[in-house]
Amino acid sequence: MPGLLFGTGGTPHSAKTNTTIDGIKRIAELKLGCMEVEFVQGVRMGEAGARLVAETAAREGVRLSAHAPYFINLNAHEPEKVRASQDRIIQTARIASLCGAESIVFHAAFYLGDSPGEVYTRVRESLKEVMHQLKRKNNRVWVRPEIAGKPSQFGNLEEVLDLCAELERVAPCIDFAHWHARTGAFNSYPEFASILQRVKERLGRAALDNMHIHISGITYGEKGEVKHLNLKESDFQYTELLQALKVYDAQGIVICESPNLEVDALLLQETYNTRPKAG
Ligand SMILES: [Zn+2]
Repeated sequence: MPGLLFGTGGTPHSAKTNTTIDGIKRIAELKLGCMEVEFVQGVRMGEAGARLVAETAAREGVRLSAHAPYFINLNAHEPEKVRASQDRIIQTARIASLCGAESIVFHAAFYLGDSPGEVYTRVRESLKEVMHQLKRKNNRVWVRPEIAGKPSQFGNLEEVLDLCAELERVAPCIDFAHWHARTGAFNSYPEFASILQRVKERLGRAALDNMHIHISGITYGEKGEVKHLNLKESDFQYTELLQALKVYDAQGIVICESPNLEVDALLLQETYNTRPKAG
């Protein structure tokens, strides 16, 4: 399907209950296109549950992704913590794949005062092992390191694109709110366009045809992201971002992570669908 699909990070607030199944049904009722299943506090879904989720999503025509637990640090200094982090990614990928999700998103690491070059190598090597294991299990889910909102977190734009360029089946999760909060910039049409241009240069047109995007309002300070806000209560120039996505003909999934979830997801979808391409 051409263009972008819009949806929520987690079950919409207006769903009948907070379950993933009711979330998917509500997404369909709202005429949104996708939902990210939040395993951020742990993967608490069994195989039978995941199969039901897959059936529901297929029936309702809702595309899914999953967000891995926050407790991941591929740069942890204790080997057992790195292994536990790898296991959390693999576990997320396993259940996500049973859910019929096409992508998983994760926050890769913290620098912990180490040099970014060193951290990059550690993250790459440990993600490479994860990807080998997934391949062995025939798990074809896209594994997406996310652009992180704080300068203490590994995951600036170039680091994420480097991982994607080096590892098969690894693709970016471009969180435009995080990048704005982290840099204090990247909040205008030319800046948004420059990110998309960079994605295209580093990963090719195929990456723009297979985008996974997070958007929300955000507050930030010297240490980057403070918290997510509703779009209209924030300074985030979402109309300019949507315009850039249109001009670059980006295809894929946009997950809204504003506190009001579906309200802003619908706002983004409507703005995207009504604004003309030229400009
Ligand atoms: Zn995230």
